[in-house]
Amino acid sequence: MGIGNRSGLLLLFTPISRSFSTLPNSTRVAVVGSGPSGLFAVSSLLRRFPFLSIDVIEAAPVPFGLVRYGVAPDHQDVKNCIHSFEKMFSTHPDRLSLYCNLRVGNGPKEISLSDLRSRYSAILLAYGASRARKVNIPGSDSINVLSGSQVVGWYSGYPSSSPPLLDHPSAVVIGNGNVSLDCARVLASPARLEHTDIPDSALEMIRQSKVKNISIVGRRGPGDVSFTIKELREQFRLEGWNSGVEMEKNDEEKLRDGLMKMERPKKRLMQVLLDNIRVPEGEKKCSFLFRRIPKEIKSDERGRVRAVVFERSDGSLEEIEAGLVIASLGYEAVLLDGLPKNAKGDLLMKEDGEVSMEGEGGRVYATGWCTGKARGVIADSQVKATMTANGMGEKLKEGRNDRGLEDVVRSKGITTTGWKEWIEMDGREKEEGEKKGKIRDKILF
Ligand SMILES: Cc1cc2nc3c(=O)[nH]c(=O)nc-3n(C[C@H](O)[C@H](O)[C@H](O)COP(=O)(O)OP(=O)(O)OC[C@H]3O[C@@H](n4cnc5c(N)ncnc54)[C@H](O)[C@@H]3O)c2cc1C
Repeated sequence: MGIGNRSGLLLLFTPISRSFSTLPNSTRVAVVGSGPSGLFAVSSLLRRFPFLSIDVIEAAPVPFGLVRYGVAPDHQDVKNCIHSFEKMFSTHPDRLSLYCNLRVGNGPKEISLSDLRSRYSAILLAYGASRARKVNIPGSDSINVLSGSQVVGWYSGYPSSSPPLLDHPSAVVIGNGNVSLDCARVLASPARLEHTDIPDSALEMIRQSKVKNISIVGRRGPGDVSFTIKELREQFRLEGWNSGVEMEKNDEEKLRDGLMKMERPKKRLMQVLLDNIRVPEGEKKCSFLFRRIPKEIKSDERGRVRAVVFERSDGSLEEIEAGLVIASLGYEAVLLDGLPKNAKGDLLMKEDGEVSMEGEGGRVYATGWCTGKARGVIADSQVKATMTANGMGEKLKEGRNDRGLEDVVRSKGITTTGWKEWIEMDGREKEEGEKKGKIRDKILF
């Protein structure tokens, strides 16, 4: 199977033929998802339970989840956890296997949860939260109204993603979390992206972008933002941009009065907002606006977004011009078929990260964003994954003769790629990147 990237690089992969765990009578665990939650759990399982071998199953063509396809290109230091994952795979070739291009699901070319339960002593679900929350208001299907995840996917080189239109001066970003800041910052700062792993095509579009007026809009007040301080500060320091916070007098007074009682991290965050209350000036501006509930998206005669209508806290309506709308309202997990739900529709869990499964087969556990709480940084995922792994390991028995998934992958004719192929791709990406003065030149699948 050949996979080409847009710079003409062609990689050849052979169908699955690699060796599987060689441990006799091995007790096997399947980990679904190779993002930080899955791989931190693997690290803990390998270290603490030497009798285990582990197969990591990943739907994407390459590993690392949102570390590769989410973390902004100008935050390369955050991606350093990849080095520890690389070390883990290279240290345990006989106990650890990776199967990319393999989705857990009920499709003909997918492997089902029951397939896994009959082949492994335990399954750890760590498949993240892939569905972007939608802004369900009239006009939200207008052209160039995108989710934060679509924009992130585009600048991260996620398979089959398409670019936004950046030909209009005004953009509105709805949502007060870090992904809103990432999108605004990436669109505003081509110079910061020059030597990163952003795809060339995305960087070139940002260089040519006409966007020079970005509004980051929250439906609640400034005290409710979910930004983290580093990202917020960055926004006010962007070269060539002037950013300012607009705050209702009431909110400002309340924040100032309450500062002393706040815990330190919140106090510092609020101080940044208070210190930046001003109307931004200059050619390129970013405004933080609060207490505006999106009510309608207006489009032109061709169906392209032209404005967003918000309801203010006094009930008045305000129309903000926009040729691009990014609705960054968070992510939600999509439950795999066969998983039990609680009353809220989230995964039904017992204690210690175990899923409340019925029926025969391996125990099922879950960690990370797929458990329903799609929030938190990589460090949070690490803590939870380690706890879940420790709990599950305690219940695993040594000397089982688990089959693994080789037979079912073959019988369904699925072509997977493994760690060896990833290392080849990684080498090519770095090599191509070096020629261009970049950290890597991502293969675009
Ligand atoms: C845009 C964005 C930027 C972020 N930036 C930062 C940051 O700068 N710093 C920070 O600390 N945190 C950041 N985070 C948070 C961080 O990415 C998450 O905390 C973390 O990635 C969650 O890990 P996870 O393993 O649960 O999910 P994911 O990273 O999403 O990994 C899940 C994996 O499962 C795979 N998968 C999905 N469905 C299936 C299936 N059916 N079968 C097989 N595999 C499947 C996916 O392809 C993916 O590889 C960011 C998050 C986002 C969304």
